[in-house]
Amino acid sequence: MQVIRRGASLLIPVKLPGAMSPEATRAKDACPHCGKSVGLSFWDLLPSRENNRFLVCKACGGHYDLSNNCRMTSILGGMVGMALGMAFPFQWIVRAGHASKGSIALGIAAAALSIGVAATTAARLTLALEAKR
Ligand SMILES: [Zn+2]
Repeated sequence: MQVIRRGASLLIPVKLPGAMSPEATRAKDACPHCGKSVGLSFWDLLPSRENNRFLVCKACGGHYDLSNNCRMTSILGGMVGMALGMAFPFQWIVRAGHASKGSIALGIAAAALSIGVAATTAARLTLALEAKR
């Protein structure tokens, strides 16, 4: 009995906060108005400074935006991306190019790319949409 109970307890799925959430019934990018997938672009997932920004659902015309939690995670992800981008690719490229103008521009582009990738990846992991007026 003891053994069986111990075995059963191992089968209880461990829920990690922020990690892979169980399959939701609706898509993560579902419109908060009509439930249809809105198909977010790379740019939609980048953190925006505009608080009044909203996106428009192609299916129903409803206004929506990323949830606050998702936007915060995206901003944090972007900061991590910037730190890593400035620490690694930027330094490598500038050093390889002997700090020429071209290499600095290329280094900045590489750092910007890592910010974008980190921010959108973080946004996708916590993706949730909320209705906007
Ligand atoms: Zn909609």
